[in-house]
Amino acid sequence: MICLRCGHCCVSYMVIVVDDPEKGPVPGNVVGHEGNCRCKHLVGDEPGQLSCAVHGRPWYQETPCASHGQIEQSPEAPCRMGEYVLAHPDLVRDLLRVPFRPVRLTEDAS
Ligand code: SF4
Ligand code: SF4
Repeated sequence: MICLRCGHCCVSYMVIVVDDPEKGPVPGNVVGHEGNCRCKHLVGDEPGQLSCAVHGRPWYQETPCASHGQIEQSPEAPCRMGEYVLAHPDLVRDLLRVPFRPVRLTEDAS
């Protein structure tokens, strides 16, 4: 799947993300992204031109975000949800203005 950088995933889903990129996915350095707000690592404000600040980190392939995909026949297929969102960009524009809301995970609660 080719991500069209619409931002839907990174504002809508609850997902586990690394907190401090310098430390990587180690115990105590992962946090929940609550959803319905922008992920702390999302860069940009315009659907279709958004990017992830941690995509290039060597540990990124270990994260849940890296395994996100869709049911498809070809890895070269553009994201169907992205095509829809880019045709209706206001679906994500409002959420892009909502600051990151972290959800502290149980293992970090002590
Ligand atoms: S870490 Fe990157 S890919 Fe994952 S939700 Fe945040 S901005 Fe999106
Ligand atoms: S919905 Fe598709 S195009 Fe939009 S951010 Fe998610 S994977 Fe990328």
